[in-house]
Amino acid sequence: MTTPGSITEPPLIGSPYDLRVSLGEHVSEVDTRAALESGELGFVHSFTTGSAVDGPGMRIVAWLAGCQFRCVYCHNPDTWKMTNGIPVPLERAVEQVKKYRVGLATMKGGLTISGGEPLLQHRFVLKVFAAAKQMGVHTALDSNGYFGERLSDTDLAAVDLVLLDLKAMTPELHKRLTGMENKPIHEFARRLSAAKRPMWVRFVLVPGWTDDMAEVERIAAFAAELGNVERVDVLPFHQMGRFKCEKLQMDYSLRDTQPPSPETTRNAVERFRAKGLKAY
Ligand code: SF4
Repeated sequence: MTTPGSITEPPLIGSPYDLRVSLGEHVSEVDTRAALESGELGFVHSFTTGSAVDGPGMRIVAWLAGCQFRCVYCHNPDTWKMTNGIPVPLERAVEQVKKYRVGLATMKGGLTISGGEPLLQHRFVLKVFAAAKQMGVHTALDSNGYFGERLSDTDLAAVDLVLLDLKAMTPELHKRLTGMENKPIHEFARRLSAAKRPMWVRFVLVPGWTDDMAEVERIAAFAAELGNVERVDVLPFHQMGRFKCEKLQMDYSLRDTQPPSPETTRNAVERFRAKGLKAY
């Protein structure tokens, strides 16, 4: 296997807003496939500490590289390609968790694995989570849910919380918004519900795309029916993705889209609350 770290890498600790490209391209295709199959190596965009918004308490977050969605509002398009990430051996990832475990326990936090889409590297995720659980660290998976079927019921028991993105309910809108269909996501949500696994829902409010309140109500109704949704976060669209798109010379169709008004955001939050959900 190619030795990770054989090219100059930026530090693992960084911000998901850092632009990172081509850092894993020196890993051969064969080795990449082997890494995906074994979970002994992960492609990581960055690793952050001190997050208060990616699960309960104070958290460390591993942002993995690779995503099969193409959300029009994505603010981290450099995470789309897995080989843009830093190749990180499992033991190095586990060391990171170990370093912070005492502080995480004190601050009632834990480890969140996000992306990109972490389930593209589900074996790596499960191995890091297993090690975290052994240390008594709370685990949260932040996912678009499309590859939820990759996790068995036993695997799910090692995930203390799933932060699931519900981007749109109407299939046609979801396809235009993300490039992918939403049926597998709903199936995953229903499985989590049947298994009574705690879930938080995240919904990005994008003017002209997802700010139709009838659509918001459809998402709210679906989330409320599940019965395992502990919290909903309505995330107003912002322009922080623009810089990366420009740097990557990508077409950014939301260049002129403004963030939703505070009133529209409040309105969306109220639609979730009206269904009996805790929404923020
Ligand atoms: S799922 Fe997340 S990382 Fe993937 S394209 Fe959408 S916003 Fe970007």
